[in-house]
Amino acid sequence: MNKEQLISMLRENGHKVTPQRIAICEEVLSSKEHPTAEAIFEKVSKRHPAISFTTVYHTLDLLKKLELIHEIRFDNRVTRYDPNTSVHVNIICQKCGKISDYESDTVKIQWNHIISELKIQPIGQRLDAYVICGDCKE
Ligand SMILES: [Zn+2]
Ligand SMILES: [Zn+2]
Repeated sequence: MNKEQLISMLRENGHKVTPQRIAICEEVLSSKEHPTAEAIFEKVSKRHPAISFTTVYHTLDLLKKLELIHEIRFDNRVTRYDPNTSVHVNIICQKCGKISDYESDTVKIQWNHIISELKIQPIGQRLDAYVICGDCKE
């Protein structure tokens, strides 16, 4: 989704489009790191020092409702955001918390087998693999 599409989508849904809000959207939608709201706040406030954490939080909530990002909650109450909303595996390091995406036709095909076997139409899904990453093994 480009900037113009994003702006019109926000407008169509009756939301005010401010430069801060666009910056937050761009930051999370382009991220590969499954960032937390705090991490996004930190990055965006470098360019927009007046931004509030509440604005960040509300904007993330909005993107979630528009189904442009997924919220990934963890037992330790950390919530991270994933702009990759297609079926994929999150490979999560249990030591440093780094998350990388694994996307492949195999995952999609197997997932389609599973849901047809179950005869369900999921409204969302989350596939996690827990590992100790290469950096943490050393
Ligand atoms: Zn690690
Ligand atoms: Zn992911």
